[in-house]
Amino acid sequence: MSKVKIEIDGKPLNVLEGTTILKAAQDAEINIPTLCHRPDLTPEGLCRVCVVEVKGAPRLVASCHTPVSDGMVIHTRSPRVVTSRKTVIELLLAGHTGPCVTDECAGDCELHNLAAEQEAGAPRFRVKKPRQYAVEEISPYVKRDMGRCILCRRCIRACAQIAKKDIFSMAYRGFLSKVVVDCDIPLNKEVCKDCGICIDHCPTSALTNPKLAELKQEVA
Ligand code: SF4
Repeated sequence: MSKVKIEIDGKPLNVLEGTTILKAAQDAEINIPTLCHRPDLTPEGLCRVCVVEVKGAPRLVASCHTPVSDGMVIHTRSPRVVTSRKTVIELLLAGHTGPCVTDECAGDCELHNLAAEQEAGAPRFRVKKPRQYAVEEISPYVKRDMGRCILCRRCIRACAQIAKKDIFSMAYRGFLSKVVVDCDIPLNKEVCKDCGICIDHCPTSALTNPKLAELKQEVA
């Protein structure tokens, strides 16, 4: 595969054709924040946290799934990028309900950590109808609190691509979108065993290990 010449934040680089902008930046030690992306999963460009500005392109592009091309001039921290990134984080926070900020899981929430790192500030947006779901605790392996879900689909991809199961999928549309099991039934031990891969890949506390939660309570 041939190499192409690109520039990221003023740094000239020779990169293998087909490399994503994110990978090229990471190899050059340029940090681009991500949320729905994980290196062990196929990139989908869903959350828009990793957007960058490409000179001449009409729109910001998601760096996790956009391949480089010869002569590309990329800006990862331009005012347009920073504003867009903060707005995306604010919108995600606005729809991320539940006591996540105050409870013992807050420190483990990638979204909250990202908001702090990117200095996103408190959300200016309010959702008309918060997404509220009953917490599912039927499975002995996975507790699901979908009010905290930010629809990054990492659990869907991890379950399908790593665990080689296909337990989760997306259902409904728009603001009602939800990660579901089958036709939106609670997760139970008949369909899900204790691999824990979805929990490891969930950036929020939407998916947790019930046994660990019990243990934390006992220790506290
Ligand atoms: S449950 Fe977790 S991993 Fe799955 S879509 Fe929601 S936030 Fe992402």
